[in-house]
Amino acid sequence: MSFDDLGLSARALAAVTAAGFEIPTPIQAQAIPEVLAGRDVLGLAQTGTGKTASFTLPILTRLETGRARARMPRILILEPTRELAAQVHESFELLGANYKLTIALLIGGVSFADQDRKLSKGADVLIATPGRLLDHFERGKLMMNGVEVLVVDEADRMLDMGFIPDIERICKLLPFTRQTLFFSATMPSEIQRITSTFLHNPVRIEVAARSSVVSTIRQHWVKAPSVPKEKRAALRDLIASQPIKNAIVFCNRKRDVAVLEHSFQRHKLSGGALHGDMNQHARLETLQRFRDGEITFLVASDVAARGLDIPEVSHVINYDIPSAPEDYVHRIGRTGRAGREGHAFSLVTREDRGRAKDIEKLIGQELDWFGTAPSKDDDGDRRRPSRGSGRRDAASRQKQSAGKRDGPKKSDDSDAAVAEENVTIAEAADAEAASETKSARAPRERSRKSSAAATQEQKPARGSDATWNGGHIPAFLQRSVRP
Ligand code: AMP
Repeated sequence: MSFDDLGLSARALAAVTAAGFEIPTPIQAQAIPEVLAGRDVLGLAQTGTGKTASFTLPILTRLETGRARARMPRILILEPTRELAAQVHESFELLGANYKLTIALLIGGVSFADQDRKLSKGADVLIATPGRLLDHFERGKLMMNGVEVLVVDEADRMLDMGFIPDIERICKLLPFTRQTLFFSATMPSEIQRITSTFLHNPVRIEVAARSSVVSTIRQHWVKAPSVPKEKRAALRDLIASQPIKNAIVFCNRKRDVAVLEHSFQRHKLSGGALHGDMNQHARLETLQRFRDGEITFLVASDVAARGLDIPEVSHVINYDIPSAPEDYVHRIGRTGRAGREGHAFSLVTREDRGRAKDIEKLIGQELDWFGTAPSKDDDGDRRRPSRGSGRRDAASRQKQSAGKRDGPKKSDDSDAAVAEENVTIAEAADAEAASETKSARAPRERSRKSSAAATQEQKPARGSDATWNGGHIPAFLQRSVRP
């Protein structure tokens, strides 16, 4: 199968050549002809499979005829995070370089006025996060009745972030006759409901889920205590034992990302944080510093890191074991790319052992322990504080350290200070989507609750083991997908 066989225009094919793409990926081979035929598409595919170009290229072909009018975009692409939106924007600019297109990026954290100027000129393509899009709509700056194609990308992430009510609302504002391209890595029940409501007789395209891990990644478990301060010390010991060029350290929660970054600073480890509560500017700046090698460690949450084009890293460290085993595969896929050796270490507390077993089941491999393995009767850390006792402990430690104030200033991880910060961060921590529209906040809260339940049911999309180019899957797809 070649790109020439898919029905793309000569101009779009020139863009393919300019981008250096030689063979279509499975999702591209299957989706492009259907999109060009005007059909709705339900694509079960993850980032890293080439799905962005699978909708960008046929959309470019379509845009060769017709024109956008002021405030009436023709194409609407919805992304769950600002970074993903910015990345799709980049892809459109790259592949659409020889098109005279106006592409507007509507994301939070960026001035309304600039976005508004673009809209008033007449944007052909709008790439937006749901909240910011609705903000523009509510201000009367945007009309949605000219939209010909709607792309909903990373729908399951939208669900995790509580955006489903926004998506439903947006779908209702669009013309009934539009074409809908809907992508999701998994199909929890709420996503199924949405697709059956808003897609018309879609063609379903499924590409293999990446539940396998490339053999160039050396993976280890690391026994870790549950007490946060001790766990951070275990992380530092691990870091000291490794020849780390650069590493991504994943935490499950935003609050822990912030606490860990703070701890890295105190211990003179060169790190930056990436989590969903940071403003756009700060996130992009941190990413750039990591790309440029100015910082060695990127401390990140899954939501912030998902789908980002983060460069090759020598190490991935799971400070927390992810609750969904598939996230483990996504995370460690950041290392060991293009046949190079990569290292993945995951800190396992006693409470995490069940999750570690689930991961081993998914990847079909038992991992070795780095250093000491926990023994069978090892009951881990009995001193694990009960819920809510963290503040009490911090307060008592603060008292103790106040008593020692005359002594030399401790350079170690002052848990009291960290816990103090932790409380503030914790208060803001559940507001992943809050920086978007205020108006949709109430439904989003409801959805978050129901989405938590729905996420429990999530199963990895088991694909029809799609192959590329007659069985050969190139190295960049062999690696696990970028989260
Ligand atoms: P995506 O899943 O859309 O994020 O794409 C993952 C990466 O694969 C991006 O860096 C694309 O530029 C690249 N890519 C997409 N399609 C192809 C292709 N047919 N050949 C080579 N690279 C591709």
